[in-house]
Amino acid sequence: MLAIERMAASATQRIQRDHGNTRREHHCTSGLAAAFAVLAVFWIGAAPARADDPWKPPPRVRPGTDDTRRLVADGMARSAAIRGMVDRLERSDLVVYIRHRVFVESAIDGWIGMLSASAGRRYVVIELACGRTWVDQLVTLGHELHHAVEIANQPSVVNARSLAAFYQRIGVRTSGLGTAERFETAGARETAMQVRREVWGKAVRLTEDK
Ligand SMILES: [Zn+2]
Repeated sequence: MLAIERMAASATQRIQRDHGNTRREHHCTSGLAAAFAVLAVFWIGAAPARADDPWKPPPRVRPGTDDTRRLVADGMARSAAIRGMVDRLERSDLVVYIRHRVFVESAIDGWIGMLSASAGRRYVVIELACGRTWVDQLVTLGHELHHAVEIANQPSVVNARSLAAFYQRIGVRTSGLGTAERFETAGARETAMQVRREVWGKAVRLTEDK
């Protein structure tokens, strides 16, 4: 999903607060989130990365918390689609922040919005819903990274207005009367399905290795 305008303004404020080192508010605080963290440790342990060789996120893809760092690392380890999209973003002018949030509408799994454009860089933020299973978070991450690549491939998108115009052309509007406009694309949905297949396939192989 892609959200425009209202969310972008508040997101900008939150990004600014990030620089003030108050990242607590981006953590999911439920017991469920703690369970995800345990799962994440398991999956990181199953990946080639070593504990004394801490994984660093790629420069253009910027998870803001330990939880989102683990999510990106795990997604890149288990999904060729996610690796490919991160590679594409690393060769773009986009900077992609990633964080969790609690959505008022429980049906929302995540979205991406435009923050700003300046000095040859464009800044977007992916927000993932708290309280989802680890696999669903990986799938949503893949879905939203697809949108990031769509935006990376379209240099004319530099603000909320050009973002809306672009998605009116390539997507379908899912809401937007009186609140933030939201759009969806078939490509993002297909990527999400691919990531789900890859993640489950990897899980099966890891289990069989034991
Ligand atoms: Zn979408």
